[in-house]
Amino acid sequence: MIAALTFRVFVILCLLVGGIAFYLTGQVWLAIALHAILVSYLLAGTLNPSSRLFGPVITNCENDIWITLDDGPDPIDTLAILDLLDSHHAKATFFVIGKKAEQYPELIREIHRRGHGIGNHSWSHPRAFFWCLGPIRTYREIAKCQKAVSNIIGVAPRYFRSPVGHYNVFVHPILKHLGLQLVGWSSRGYDGINASLKFVTSRIRKSATKGGIILAHESTPIAKEVVADILRMAAEKNWRCVTPDGSQESYNC
Ligand SMILES: [Zn+2]
Repeated sequence: MIAALTFRVFVILCLLVGGIAFYLTGQVWLAIALHAILVSYLLAGTLNPSSRLFGPVITNCENDIWITLDDGPDPIDTLAILDLLDSHHAKATFFVIGKKAEQYPELIREIHRRGHGIGNHSWSHPRAFFWCLGPIRTYREIAKCQKAVSNIIGVAPRYFRSPVGHYNVFVHPILKHLGLQLVGWSSRGYDGINASLKFVTSRIRKSATKGGIILAHESTPIAKEVVADILRMAAEKNWRCVTPDGSQESYNC
C-alpha cells in the first residue's frame, strides 16, 4: 500500500514539475499536455468510487454478500425494508444521512435494535459538490453525521460511504482521524437515478458476485421492490447476506 501511494505521489510530482519545466523553457504546449494529464489523473481519483488514488476503499467483502442501503432513514421505506430483511434472516448496513437520522431517531434505533449496521453517509449529502469541498467542510459533513448517529444509539459508525461515491484528497485523513473506513461497492442498479424496476434489478443481478458489495437506496419509488429482488437473488444463489458490523473484524481493502 505504501509503495503504491509513493508511486502515485511520484507520478503526480513528475507531471507537475515536468509541466512547470516545459513552461519555463518555452515549450508551452508540452506543459499544457502534461498538466492536462495531471488534472485528468486527479479527477479520475476523485470521481471514480473505486479509485484508490487517495487511499483505501473497500469494494468487496470476504464471504457471501454485503447489502448496503444509502440515503435513509426514510419514514416510508425503512421499516418495510427491515421487515423484508428479517423475513430472509438477512443483515444489511444502512448508510444514513445525518440530517435525516436526527429527524427520525426512532428509525435509527430500530435499525440498530434489529442487528443491522449503521454507516455514515455524510450530514447533508451534498451530492453535486462533496468532491470539491475543502477540508473544514468535508470534516464537518463526516463528523456531524458521526455525532448524530452516536448520540442516538451510543455507538459511532465504523464505515463511511461518500455521497454518490465521489471524494477528494481530504477525505481519507479525516476518516482515519474519526476511525472510519471508506466503503465502495461492486454491484449496483442505478436505482438512485432510474425508477425502472426491471432495469435496476437486471443490472444488479448481472453485476452481483459472491463476496461483493451491493449498493441500493432508500427513498426511491422502488426501494422496497429492489431490496426484495436482491433477497430473492441471494436465496436463489444460496448466498448469505452478512455485514462486518457485528464483528470486531474490519474488512481488508
Ligand atoms: Zn447517497
